[in-house]
Amino acid sequence: MQYKSTRNSKLRLDASQVIAQGISTEGGLFVPESLPNVKIDLPRLSNLDYQGLAKEIFKLFLTDFTEEQINHCVKNAYEPEKFGGEPVKLVSLKGDLGSRHILELWHGPTCAFKDMALQVLPHFLTVSLSKSAEKKEAVILVATSGDTGKAALEGFRDVSGTRVLVFYPQAGVSPMQKRQMATQEGGNVGVCAIEGNFDDAQAAVKKIFTDSSIKEVLDKHGFMFSSANSINWGRLLPQIVYYFYAYFQICKADKLTVGNPINVAVPTGNFGNILAAYYAREMGLPIKKLICASNANKVLTDFINTGIYDRRREFYATSSPSMDILISSNLERLLYGLLGENSEVLSNWMEQLSREGHYKVGDDVREKVRELFFGGFCNDSATAQTIRNTWREDNYLADTHTAVALDVYRQYVESSGDSSTPTVVVSTASPYKFVGSVLSALETLESGEEFENILQLESITNTTAPAQLKALQHKPIRFDAVIKASQAAGYVLEALGIGE
Ligand SMILES: *Cc1c(COP(=O)(O)O)cnc(C)c1O
Repeated sequence: MQYKSTRNSKLRLDASQVIAQGISTEGGLFVPESLPNVKIDLPRLSNLDYQGLAKEIFKLFLTDFTEEQINHCVKNAYEPEKFGGEPVKLVSLKGDLGSRHILELWHGPTCAFKDMALQVLPHFLTVSLSKSAEKKEAVILVATSGDTGKAALEGFRDVSGTRVLVFYPQAGVSPMQKRQMATQEGGNVGVCAIEGNFDDAQAAVKKIFTDSSIKEVLDKHGFMFSSANSINWGRLLPQIVYYFYAYFQICKADKLTVGNPINVAVPTGNFGNILAAYYAREMGLPIKKLICASNANKVLTDFINTGIYDRRREFYATSSPSMDILISSNLERLLYGLLGENSEVLSNWMEQLSREGHYKVGDDVREKVRELFFGGFCNDSATAQTIRNTWREDNYLADTHTAVALDVYRQYVESSGDSSTPTVVVSTASPYKFVGSVLSALETLESGEEFENILQLESITNTTAPAQLKALQHKPIRFDAVIKASQAAGYVLEALGIGE
């Protein structure tokens, strides 16, 4: 299996090169040259446990990895001790809205779904780097809206041959997310807040990535940049696995024959998670509708409904901060596929997006998008109401991101009348990670103090907070720097010990 770039169809690279490089030199994203179809293999795959399924799917895409290397990656990433058993859990809700199955992807070390990919990416990366001639230390630069940063720090911490440096928007993450990052342990990590919002932090990181003079300095000292953001193929691939896994679990729970369709509803920001579901569908997994759920930053809802992508709008800081994004990078990969791999047309759209802030797709692409996807959005008050209703009616405690998906699924049922297709509602974070918002959604006074809030949520819902979140209370703060975006490059050089 070889990979090409969305902005250069002629390119051919191996998986290890693509994972080490992160993004293509001309700015495009790497995509597999074709997607393997496993439809006739579904009955066999349905009997595998999570690790077994991950190995089978990785094998199809990482053809320059040996079987041993793949086994090593999978085994180290998805150890039962790290996830408290199988890495994902499925909770079924009944009721008027048909058969809803909540796919909890947050049982890993940082209590958000990013762990599913970021526990394995460091292993993919070290194997990939070992295949290249240059023996450089990889510097992972991350801009985060909260969850990626912590998950990357945990995934890469003390992995030899790597450093990880994380930038987060000072005012754009939840108090718990901030504390998770500020207390991060490990000898190869660094964390820094940036004045501004997520897009400012992302722009600062992109600027460093593409600055040739910084690259030279790094080169001279034996370092190279790499990326753990969701544009890296090594982030997307692991996410394909859980859609297969969830499907097989539902077939068992609902007594469906393998081959019958399901829907998936995904709370979406950078379009990575839902793109993995689309890839699973292209590989033969019977998915009927891909339900794309946004918060008030509803640039994707508008795109799905109109074919116009327009980021020129107000940016809202919402109660689901990990989805507060106006540029959904991975959409580029979808459009490349739908365009029949026309990298010229795509490059023009992407250029127009960066220059003018908008683009419009042709009618054919727009039709395909609408056939595949349902797009909806949910603002903060509807999010809170959904948390409250789901708790009262289904006795299920959802976090703010999951609630957005639950509400948009409800909108889908109302508009399509399809309440008979079993649906996976993807749950991306523990409710305890956004404890203040969840408490106020339950109409309980939140104290403003995170750890008191945790105790209170435990006592009113009779649920248990993840131990790793509770433990943060007594960990010392290691990182409290706040800098301007323009100082980010200096911070990187200093952290690597190669500043002037
Ligand atoms: C990152 C994140 C999302 C959005 O996922 P994308 O792959 O960026 O669409 C949703 N919920 C949570 C909790 C997240 O951390």
